[in-house]
Amino acid sequence: MAERQTMQKTIIYAALCELANHPTVDMVYERVQRDFPTISKATVYRVLRQMAEQGKILRIPVPEGADHYDHQTHHHFHVCCNSCAKVDDVTMPDPGALEKTVTDSCGYELTGCSVVLQGLCPACRK
Ligand SMILES: [Zn+2]
Ligand SMILES: [Zn+2]
Repeated sequence: MAERQTMQKTIIYAALCELANHPTVDMVYERVQRDFPTISKATVYRVLRQMAEQGKILRIPVPEGADHYDHQTHHHFHVCCNSCAKVDDVTMPDPGALEKTVTDSCGYELTGCSVVLQGLCPACRK
């Protein structure tokens, strides 16, 4: 059983990395289904949640939409399209500056970052 779980985790993580651009559970599930039709959506959901809780991946809660997941766990911002719910990375010139600002202004040490900016993606702006 433990071995089976490890295998499922590996498969689901690989699908997440392959999709790269912040997929939802549905998108990861579809990808996994192609090669491993026996893995259920409930399993994909559970494994992604678990890995996010363990800090192996990032869960991106999108306002009024399904959660997206990210295999990149370094501190970075996301922007979500209000129209098509696509999620992209926002490249910050100096990500360390945010940490310093937080520590300087209120003494917190940052352990995570889940800022989701909102806007319209280039495709939807046309
Ligand atoms: Zn869009
Ligand atoms: Zn990201």
